[in-house]
Amino acid sequence: MSEKTMSVEEHKQKMQEQQRQVRAKIADAKTRRGVIIYLYGNGKGKSSSAFGTLARSLGHGKKGAVVQFIKGKWKTGEQAIFRQLGVKHLVMGTGFTWDTQDREKDIAAAEAVWSKAVPLFRDPAYDIVILDEITYMFKYGYLSVADVCEVLLARPEQQNAIVTGRDAIPELLEIADTISEVREVRHAFNQGVKAQKGIEF
Ligand code: ATP
Ligand code: MG
Repeated sequence: MSEKTMSVEEHKQKMQEQQRQVRAKIADAKTRRGVIIYLYGNGKGKSSSAFGTLARSLGHGKKGAVVQFIKGKWKTGEQAIFRQLGVKHLVMGTGFTWDTQDREKDIAAAEAVWSKAVPLFRDPAYDIVILDEITYMFKYGYLSVADVCEVLLARPEQQNAIVTGRDAIPELLEIADTISEVREVRHAFNQGVKAQKGIEF
């Protein structure tokens, strides 16, 4: 029977059953620990979801950090707001790899920013740490995914980590607690719409 053709009583019964199931699930979830959230895929919304979760955490007075691995020459809105909000923000020193065209330089830049990120994952004062666009580092072999996973898994128990990037990296799929694939259904860019301040960067 579809929802539309249900009687009031039938609808009520169905909702009560759903409520019972949801309550049972909530009662079962007793563990309190930080999680690894992995957001990947070709659609728009990975970094902005990560920053949205960070905003939510900050609203609860929590402490966060963002590590960005690939950045164009644009001055991003997030950069300015992180500064205003006191969010620690580390950015890889080079631009997009297709702009720099210098592998050695890219590797050095990736390693430099990663070495600054590691202490964040050893500091329980940080409630949430975002590794934005890090999958490119694995795709191009700039960083070792095994090393990054090891650091992620050894982080303080209550610390949350969010990892974003287009690629589905098997090792990350293996260790993440929450995984969402952001699939492109449509993007305005493909209709010739120029990237907008505040929307894309
Ligand atoms: P956002 O930062 O908007 O949440 P994202 O993190 O999911 O995007 P990235 O792969 O990091 O996506 O891409 C960064 C930029 O590229 C964003 O400005 C975004 O709007 C744009 N973009 C994302 N997906 C697409 C797409 N499928 N086609 C064209 N541009 C895209
Ligand atoms: Mg992104």
